[in-house]
Amino acid sequence: MENNTQIVEEADYILQPLWDLRKGYEDYLRSPLFPVFVSVGYYFGLCVPFMLVDIFCKNMQWYKKYKIQPDKEVAAPLLWDTLTLTFWNNIMFIMPTAVAQWIWTPPTELPEKAPPLFEFLWHIFACLLVFDFQYYVWHLTHHKIRFLYRHIHGLHHRYHAPFVWVTQYLHPWELITVGLLTTTNTWFFNCHCLTIWSYMVVSISISVEGHIGFDFPWLLNHWIPYGFFGGSPKHDMHHQKPMTNYQPFFNHLDKMFGSFCPPMSAGGVKSKALQDYERRHRESKKRG
Ligand SMILES: [Zn+2]
Ligand SMILES: [Zn+2]
Repeated sequence: MENNTQIVEEADYILQPLWDLRKGYEDYLRSPLFPVFVSVGYYFGLCVPFMLVDIFCKNMQWYKKYKIQPDKEVAAPLLWDTLTLTFWNNIMFIMPTAVAQWIWTPPTELPEKAPPLFEFLWHIFACLLVFDFQYYVWHLTHHKIRFLYRHIHGLHHRYHAPFVWVTQYLHPWELITVGLLTTTNTWFFNCHCLTIWSYMVVSISISVEGHIGFDFPWLLNHWIPYGFFGGSPKHDMHHQKPMTNYQPFFNHLDKMFGSFCPPMSAGGVKSKALQDYERRHRESKKRG
């Protein structure tokens, strides 16, 4: 019996070796600037490879095969425009927020123990679920209220065919809201700091994935069952048909409230579900 309890405890603290890597770097990790460096560094590190693919691989056969809108070229002016706004958003809004955090936020507490595995996974999932709901409401409001769409969220919709740098092609108010929600969600669950940093990395990954403009067979939307996860084809469709697919990560709210539009697959292929959706939409428009 004692042995079994010990095995369960050991499995629970499977993250301890990873957490022990902090030793010797505590001063850096305690700094309120650390999460900002992780999120900004991770964002750029993740986006650059996809940008290189868009620049150097566009004539390769596999590129057109997996691109969701293969007829839309990611030309140099588009890259320049999105990179310029991303750069200025970082300088004008993210940097000052980081400095404010550095001045006013106390150093992060680093517990001796890693979070138990189940708690770690559950907290990440719970934070994603809460953010998904909050952003769904924010997103819907910023589409339905004309003023908010025209002056804030409409900027993100300048691009109907997303590519990686469109992820943070955002009005500052949207950038600040997203940052604020992502940060404060972890307070609901009193998360371990390893969980907080991992959740930030996961949510950035999903947001970037939503804008890569590709539907690779290894992406999560092909592996998570019951169509629970949206992924890049679903958000790509939101940029094509902005009054659909408001939910950023999952599908349940869009399906529940009738805003779900079946996505377009790799190579611009329209599934039967999407063709049926478009036909129904045309017919209801004709009926007025
Ligand atoms: Zn988008
Ligand atoms: Zn939108």
